[in-house]
Amino acid sequence: MAKRREFSKAVYVQIVKRAMHPKHGIVCEGCGLVLGKKAWHVDHTIADALQIDKSRKLTADDGKLLGVECCHKPKTAEDVAVIAEAKRREEKHLGIKRPKQSIKSAGFPKSEKAARRSPKQDLPYRPLYRPALNAGGEN
Ligand SMILES: [Zn+2]
Repeated sequence: MAKRREFSKAVYVQIVKRAMHPKHGIVCEGCGLVLGKKAWHVDHTIADALQIDKSRKLTADDGKLLGVECCHKPKTAEDVAVIAEAKRREEKHLGIKRPKQSIKSAGFPKSEKAARRSPKQDLPYRPLYRPALNAGGEN
């Protein structure tokens, strides 16, 4: 399993500040629900396992403050489905690639060439009929 990157403290604070409503306090960035004392979680906007460039630093744009009950749970379930779909695609892609490679290599087997060559060498290339015709002085 790919290691999930976490937000740095500075980025985390940025996200929390962004979600902070001046009057109502922390608001869910998914649905706008005022969370108050409700549990929330800073979620990765893009499922981390799908990100190709793992060296890129996460910014506040990569995260969303979500209420655990209202938005985070369904989002996580969706991420799992998206990741599973991506893995299926990858497997399918690899499944197409593999037979192509085996066909390619099957076109040049050394043993097959050798097998074709050896009976040729064994065939006695002697003019069998000409001497027989020439020597056909029986009639
Ligand atoms: Zn929400």
